[in-house]
Amino acid sequence: MTDWAKPSSDASEFPDEPFPCPHCGQMLAPSVRVCVACKQPIEAHQIARPAPAAPVSVLPPEAAQVLAPPVPLAPARFSWPIFFRVLVIWFAVTILSVQFLKYAIAQMVLEGLILLSSIWVFYDAQKRALPKPFRWAIGSLLLWIVVFPWYLSRRRTPLAPCPFIEAEASRAARAFLFLLAAVFLIAALVALLKGHRVL
Ligand SMILES: [Zn+2]
Repeated sequence: MTDWAKPSSDASEFPDEPFPCPHCGQMLAPSVRVCVACKQPIEAHQIARPAPAAPVSVLPPEAAQVLAPPVPLAPARFSWPIFFRVLVIWFAVTILSVQFLKYAIAQMVLEGLILLSSIWVFYDAQKRALPKPFRWAIGSLLLWIVVFPWYLSRRRTPLAPCPFIEAEASRAARAFLFLLAAVFLIAALVALLKGHRVL
């Protein structure tokens, strides 16, 4: 009597589909009870079966909400309250420095304030991994009274998108920024030359 003839004790447990031999891995037909490759008898309980598909669990609504992808955040917006606070501080600093300092020194203080705060914007945006830190800094340098308060608002929601400043610039936007930078430099140069004539 061979193994072939031995009645399987629990044939019902043998799979209906081809299965790998538990001893050598050879794929075997469902009817095979002794491996054609390694000649080992195969017991039904030895056969590795594919794990049953994970049951689709019915989650309570709260859990489903937790697992749901996060709702995209609203874009970081320009904040008028922050703008007005910055504006008030700026006016106060301007009035005080013009009042108590020589005009040239007051101008240096104000320009230094813009320069330092724009440099801070650059490092702060980098530290917070915000997109386009250089563009924020240049924007602050060129258009401080608008971009600096905007940055103060933007840095509070680092995950929100801010497409107006941080989007990939189109050619037109690049040209506009270049023009703005050129105008700024020319204005600075004119101011410098005037200052020399006055002094
Ligand atoms: Zn085998």
